[in-house]
Amino acid sequence: MKFNCPSCRLPLLPENINIQTDLALCKDCGGIARISELVDEEFDTSTLSQPPKGAWYRQTMSETIIGATTRHPMAFMMVPFMCVWSGFSLGGIYGTQITNGKFSLMMSLFGLPFLAGTILFGSIALMAVCGKVEVRLRGRRGLVFVGVGFLGWKRALNLDEVDTISEENHTMNYPGSQGVGIVLKGKSRLRFATNLSEARRHFMLNALRAVKSRKV
Ligand SMILES: [Zn+2]
Repeated sequence: MKFNCPSCRLPLLPENINIQTDLALCKDCGGIARISELVDEEFDTSTLSQPPKGAWYRQTMSETIIGATTRHPMAFMMVPFMCVWSGFSLGGIYGTQITNGKFSLMMSLFGLPFLAGTILFGSIALMAVCGKVEVRLRGRRGLVFVGVGFLGWKRALNLDEVDTISEENHTMNYPGSQGVGIVLKGKSRLRFATNLSEARRHFMLNALRAVKSRKV
């Protein structure tokens, strides 16, 4: 392990790094840093050419693409469940109103939680079938995408405004979430990839660190 001070960028001396307390003291600027949030400067870039199944790292003429699929075996249970659950609840509540040609306010209001549930669990099921998490960069700037095809969540990303790339526990758990996500901290804070398997998440984390430290 080799770390640089996040404030002044000079190498931290091994005797000033305390793994037990997770703290490092910089002799040059007097800054104190959390070791868990530092970038390991000795990251082995050769691992980028061997991504785990379902993850990728691509370097084109203009773009760097780091991504992973959110595909999950849970889909085998969730998709049939969703079809039956949504079919019965929404079909029963709204379908009967449509076939009878009669609008019922009470029934429609009663159905709203089922509609919300269908949208929420439907999108989780869709992510488990064919979703992806992808970071696309042109130079130091680009975006983070989480979704299916072109539909999804997008956030702008500027690596020069990111100080640390780390993993963090997620407090809100939902089906498909692994409880841990990638967190980019700096000028702003970005958390994503909570629905990736551990191997894919670690690959993305390390690839982002490598790209940030301009080793690739
Ligand atoms: Zn320093």
